[in-house]
Amino acid sequence: MKLILLGAPGAGKGTQAEILSRKLAIPTISTGNILRAAMKNGTEIGLMAKKFIDDGKLVPDDVIIGIVRERLAEPDCKNGFILDGFPRTIPQAEALEREGIDIDCALSIEISDETIVERMSGRRTCRDCSATYHVATKPPKKEGVCDLCGGELTIRKDDAPETVRARLEVFHRETEPLKDFYSARGKLKAVDNQPTVESTTAEIAKALGIKL
Ligand code: AMP
Repeated sequence: MKLILLGAPGAGKGTQAEILSRKLAIPTISTGNILRAAMKNGTEIGLMAKKFIDDGKLVPDDVIIGIVRERLAEPDCKNGFILDGFPRTIPQAEALEREGIDIDCALSIEISDETIVERMSGRRTCRDCSATYHVATKPPKKEGVCDLCGGELTIRKDDAPETVRARLEVFHRETEPLKDFYSARGKLKAVDNQPTVESTTAEIAKALGIKL
């Protein structure tokens, strides 16, 4: 299964990708997580990406395409993968095609901007392993502590309300056209965001025609 998850920032792509990845035993490739790890490690790419990320802007296509090309060449991707947060622009999607990567499905999680802004204010992210939580809908077992690795939970700088609005604008302008791109190739499926994580996962499974 080669799957792309499309959707606005905060639509739940990361959460759903984690679940699908576990159940389908294929890796998730999250460009956002790769970039945050690079920032934390102070690499050249991380330092360059930081100014775009902190402003809610997209990191340049050539940088992202290079990162994804390298990651997809790793052996764990040979039986499939889930792309979370890539492609985010038409040139990125074209680059994927040029690499000869034929995806099975681009699955779009549909959600309103108002719900996103509300939701992002409660999001918490593990400083160490990037797992995400929500204070109301997906709380950790112990407040402020990651269930998976014990790391400290933090509010991502780019989850601040004014940055979220900038990111939504970028999403509508740059990323939403990908729905037409994949629809024209007969690859697009869409599900509406549901009130709970589990019910959204169930909708996704139905759309993909798989049993989870
Ligand atoms: P995410 O965790 O997917 O919301 O990504 C966080 C930030 O990383 C985005 O707001 C962008 O600044 C950057 N980023 C992640 N993926 C991409 C991508 N495919 N293209 C450009 N920028 C990206």
